Amino acid sequence: MKVFVLSQEGTPLMPTTPRRARRWLTAKRARVVSREPFTIQLRFQTTPYTQPATVGVDTGSQTVGLAAIANKEVVLQAEIHLRTDISGKLSRRRTYRRTRRSRKSRYRAARWANRCRPSGWLAPSLRSKAEATIKAVRFVAQVLPIGQITVEIGSFDTQKMQNPEVAGVAYQQGHLQGYLLREYLLQKWQRRCAYCHTSGVPLQVEHLLPTSRGGSDRASNLVIACACCNQRKGSRTAEEFGYAHLQLQVKHPLKDAAHVSSIKTSVVQHLAQQFGAERIAVTYGYETKYKRIQVLGLPKSHANDAVAIACQRGESVKAGSSLYQIRCMARGNYQLYNGKRSEHKVWAPKKLQGWKLYELVEAKGQMGYIGGRRVKGAFVVKEVVTGKTLLEVTPRKLRRLNRPVQGWIITRFPVSQSTGKEGGASSPS
Ligand SMILES: [Zn+2]
Repeated sequence: MKVFVLSQEGTPLMPTTPRRARRWLTAKRARVVSREPFTIQLRFQTTPYTQPATVGVDTGSQTVGLAAIANKEVVLQAEIHLRTDISGKLSRRRTYRRTRRSRKSRYRAARWANRCRPSGWLAPSLRSKAEATIKAVRFVAQVLPIGQITVEIGSFDTQKMQNPEVAGVAYQQGHLQGYLLREYLLQKWQRRCAYCHTSGVPLQVEHLLPTSRGGSDRASNLVIACACCNQRKGSRTAEEFGYAHLQLQVKHPLKDAAHVSSIKTSVVQHLAQQFGAERIAVTYGYETKYKRIQVLGLPKSHANDAVAIACQRGESVKAGSSLYQIRCMARGNYQLYNGKRSEHKVWAPKKLQGWKLYELVEAKGQMGYIGGRRVKGAFVVKEVVTGKTLLEVTPRKLRRLNRPVQGWIITRFPVSQSTGKEGGASSPS
């Protein structure tokens, strides 16, 4: 483990050993600035001699890997778990507004000429991911002097992911070539309902995985169904509806790959703006994989990928001892009113019995963050990495470990205990 050091002026210096940091602290020659990552600021003048660290960033759709290497040693290693709740929250807000306006607004003429999107615009969910990635690099720059920043950008060939044989002109001809989507589907399902095989009735296009649950409009997710079956199925998947064999035709979703592809330009551009274009380098998944396995001999994880990204080709480094798991959280709850038709303000106080949302706590031997509070008084504790509910306890059983800093919950684990959640799109394994 390394202790990060800031100079008297607040600029980052080279990290030091815990032993030396302890000596400085007891002699009151330094003070603690932050606990996670443990950072001290010196109270005396030093020569600002630094050897800049190299930073590696493994972009991803759900998890970002981050590593910093200085003096052939991994000094900081982190996995940042991005927010995935944004698009759901925005759709919820949209429905609230919609009902509110139809309920009690005067007539307002349609406004349509103000919907221009600036160039470089990203959807809110993607923007949050791109910004969190950039924030991760700034996080390193706060505690370490950094030189080179290497970013791995996934370049996914979504055509090849569906059909490994694709080549040449076939790239321009999807399987809908020469068809209209609806006509294609009618042909494919022989103008019969895919569920009850009725024909001769009005047929509808139906989603196997419903759009309300993240299903796409890809042809592989669509079937033809009669109005009756469509209605009965509702928001269930075909498998839940009792047609597992139909669910099988749904292909692996390309959503995560599409997310990574669309944020990569924005991430590289913003990093170049903030740190200078000459310090940003771009690398690709296959190179990372080679370095990680052949040179470093590390198992697959986002943080290890980041180490491989930060290394030069053929360079081997001393592994770090701790890994930071960082979870991006909402900054708070901005809901003003209670809900449907309510004229009452939200009653939940910011602080309840001294506890706020998203504080890192320990209870009954388990570590998690406060994810919710029940009316009856129980607190919901959720797992840091996955966000799953661990337990519900009374507040007096809680022990505070840490508070979120700037929308991040930071926890440190020994490197051997990698708890990274799998999923999302990233470099090849
Ligand atoms: Zn039917």
